[in-house]
Amino acid sequence: MTVLEVRNLQKSFGQIKAVQDISFSVNAGEVFTIIGPNGAGKTTTLEMIEGLVSPDNGEIHFGDLDWNKHAVSIKKKIGVQPQSSAMFDLLTPEENLNLFASFYDHARPAKEILEIVNLTEHRNNHVKKLSGGQRQRLAIGLALISDPEIIFLDEPTTGLDPQARRNIWDIILHLKELGKTTILTTHYMEEAEKLSDRVCIVDQGNVITLDSPSSLIEKLTDEREIRLSFLDGEEAAKDADNFLKDAESVSKTEREGATLKIWAARPEETLLDLFKFTKEKSYQVEQVSIRELSLEDVFIAFTGKEWRD
Ligand code: ATP
Repeated sequence: MTVLEVRNLQKSFGQIKAVQDISFSVNAGEVFTIIGPNGAGKTTTLEMIEGLVSPDNGEIHFGDLDWNKHAVSIKKKIGVQPQSSAMFDLLTPEENLNLFASFYDHARPAKEILEIVNLTEHRNNHVKKLSGGQRQRLAIGLALISDPEIIFLDEPTTGLDPQARRNIWDIILHLKELGKTTILTTHYMEEAEKLSDRVCIVDQGNVITLDSPSSLIEKLTDEREIRLSFLDGEEAAKDADNFLKDAESVSKTEREGATLKIWAARPEETLLDLFKFTKEKSYQVEQVSIRELSLEDVFIAFTGKEWRD
């Protein structure tokens, strides 16, 4: 079931076309992630969907509801993670949650939210004493207070250490178990790959591609990178490199000292040939690995830009 449909969204700020033409739909219960380089238009897109910025053109539908006619109903359906600055530093997490709860007719009890975002232990500490990760968890909690169906998280893990990031991943996965729909932006590819049912890559205000992480990777190529290091040193690697010159499934090789990198369309076949060769020549292989393609490779292939965390 589609819970959100966005059609041909456009937004300019003066001469800057922040969003040129963005369309997608989001299914109930999925984690839908928008990724893209800096300035690609992710936040502007999210803010238009959240009703904070009005589009120049295009349509946003939450089922039968749209912002022009049904703003009150949409606000009940969605939860937006507030900026850290929206929290009250001199109040505790529980007090912040109760305060936000007072804005709604039907709010979820603060106790339940504290459990979901794993802050029960810290419920009575002042917010200013919380770590960056705990503050972000509270921000997610504040987005959940009205018990929304759709939750918007704009870069919830930026600047956090790996453990704090993982704690947030656990919360997002738990929300999925609860049947919530999450719309996420992130700068971390690993995060997008681990959490998302579908990933939408945007660049220069346009959707470049959209699919599940595994389908995006499959679409890219069947090719894999094999690495082989020889105990016998550089000469063995050179010899193996020459041996592969005629191999049909090998598109490229690179050598660094005693290590040979091989790009092969049928890596199993190439490895079998290589092992036969090394046995015949009595070369000793120190290490073999096959690097699987990741979402980062998809990003680079589609945008032509290097990824940076
Ligand atoms: P980042 O990953 O850096 O957060 P983003 O993909 O979220 O980037 P946006 O913040 O949506 O990108 O910005 C898209 C473009 O629109 C950028 O060039 C940005 O400078 C510009 N922009 C965004 N908001 C405004 C504004 N209020 N006034 C002027 N320009 C803006």
